[in-house]
Amino acid sequence: METFITRTEKIPFYQHYDIIVAGGGVAGAAAALAAAREGKQVLLIEKTCILGGLATIGHVNFFVPMCNGRGKQIISGMAEEFLQLSVRYGYDTIPKEWKNGEPAEPTNVRYVTRFSPWIFAIAMTDLLISSGVKILFDTIVEDVIMDEQVCKGLLILNKSGRSYCTASAYIDATGDADILYRAGVPTVQGKNYFTYYGFAATVDSCRKVAETGNFAFLNAGGVNGGCINLYGHNQPADVPLYKGTDGDDVSDYLIRNQLLMFEKLKKEPEKSRDILSIPSMPQFRTTRRIDGDVTLKESDAYRHFEDSVGAICDFDRRDYLYEIPYGTLVHEGFPNLITAGRSASGEGYAWDILRVIPPAIVSGQAAGIAAAQSIDSGSGLDKLSLEPLQRAMEKGGNRIHFDDALIPAGNTEAADTHADIGHI
Ligand SMILES: Cc1cc2nc3c(=O)[nH]c(=O)nc-3n(C[C@H](O)[C@H](O)[C@H](O)COP(=O)(O)OP(=O)(O)OC[C@H]3O[C@@H](n4cnc5c(N)ncnc54)[C@H](O)[C@@H]3O)c2cc1C
Repeated sequence: METFITRTEKIPFYQHYDIIVAGGGVAGAAAALAAAREGKQVLLIEKTCILGGLATIGHVNFFVPMCNGRGKQIISGMAEEFLQLSVRYGYDTIPKEWKNGEPAEPTNVRYVTRFSPWIFAIAMTDLLISSGVKILFDTIVEDVIMDEQVCKGLLILNKSGRSYCTASAYIDATGDADILYRAGVPTVQGKNYFTYYGFAATVDSCRKVAETGNFAFLNAGGVNGGCINLYGHNQPADVPLYKGTDGDDVSDYLIRNQLLMFEKLKKEPEKSRDILSIPSMPQFRTTRRIDGDVTLKESDAYRHFEDSVGAICDFDRRDYLYEIPYGTLVHEGFPNLITAGRSASGEGYAWDILRVIPPAIVSGQAAGIAAAQSIDSGSGLDKLSLEPLQRAMEKGGNRIHFDDALIPAGNTEAADTHADIGHI
């Protein structure tokens, strides 16, 4: 039996854009918005039917801390804009200390919030459409058309069938580095624990909403498959570590989790609860990333990078500050490809630091502006002059470098123990 088939087909042309963003998670949405605000024609291609990726259909409706844990906001810019958008038309859980912006007095309370995933998703659609971004939903980017190391187009598949579209620059925000991998950019495979959280309502949670008028209480949680956190504690010995980049492996993860969820459900009284939703994308944290020109390491805490595109903070440990080097988004020799979000180049825990929602938005904003500047300047994305990018990021509200005054005295040693902070 043949192990492959060869076929020739005529593939129709769809459209040309200045910039195509593959993947409409928070990183892709930020990239598309930033590029559109730079005056570019932008196409955003999303394989599901709403924006937000893990932050919405993946049930991760929580902005991790945007501050250093001492009352200083570290991450702002488009991440702040998206945080505010996520709660503008629904509930929030912003601590009172942060309700009116950075507090006047130091506080240990961190700047975080939960949000309604579905309201955030449609608010993002509204923002992007009104900013001139063209969105193609329910469309998967299948493959790339390469000429040596230059991307000439993307093959896409949707209800119209297969077609191809072209652009001057391409942003891979698929979270899985799908485009980069297929383009031959060096990538690194990750591994994933057994995690699958549903949203559920109980009679009690509904009562609490009625009593308080606050829908943040509607989700009582508790309807789960695997419950393993990012550190992998208690990963069942009989469950594999998932790659998330292989069809059979992804289906095994989904089936095992759904069956486990069902087993747990059957043990509860039928009238005690209902499922509000189950994840519509796998809750994989680290699937595949670019092997970037720079790879961020956990020990890079408190290190300044000349090519930083934004200061960020550790979601787990207060005080720890990092910067996102531009080199974590590109690979030399590939002039019109850049990534953002979950597939930025970070090693070990540094990958976790880069992939969570606020930093993913920072790298998305940077990738969108970089793509626009690369077109205007004629420089490849891998050779981009960083000064204009950093100025544009600053203009967009970001700090490029953290303030050294925030480094705690005598606390610059490498990582200490991590608190066990849940499902991040
Ligand atoms: C279990 C879990 C808990 C987490 N907890 C937190 C938390 O509490 N707080 C926090 O800040 N972060 C948390 N994170 C991390 C955070 O949610 C994600 O890393 C972040 O949202 C990533 O955003 P992204 O846009 O880079 O990628 P994604 O959200 O993965 O978005 C990628 C998008 O691309 C689309 N796509 C993929 N392939 C294709 C293709 N070939 N063609 C077209 N479209 C495609 C997908 O449908 C998706 O919409 C958690 C992650 C997990 C898995």
